[in-house]
Amino acid sequence: MLPLDPQADIGRRAWVPCPHCEDHRDCPTCREGRRCRDHWRYLLSNTGSLLHLQCPSCTQVWDHETGFGATRTGPPRGTGGF
Ligand SMILES: [Zn+2]
Ligand SMILES: [Zn+2]
Repeated sequence: MLPLDPQADIGRRAWVPCPHCEDHRDCPTCREGRRCRDHWRYLLSNTGSLLHLQCPSCTQVWDHETGFGATRTGPPRGTGGF
């Protein structure tokens, strides 16, 4: 298991199914597409519509393309911060 990313903040969460543990599959709340109390992911950072997530259950880190929101053009602005 990976350590939790230092950027992991319970105040910044995203409701995206984890591709590793898939803990949403047996959960009726998640299957209805609602914001589940138990199955959420840390939103570590995002670049436009690409979310960088970490699962609090299995600590898997992955990128999730939401396909909407700001477009990713040009280099990232600055370093550090959010
Ligand atoms: Zn997981
Ligand atoms: Zn759930």
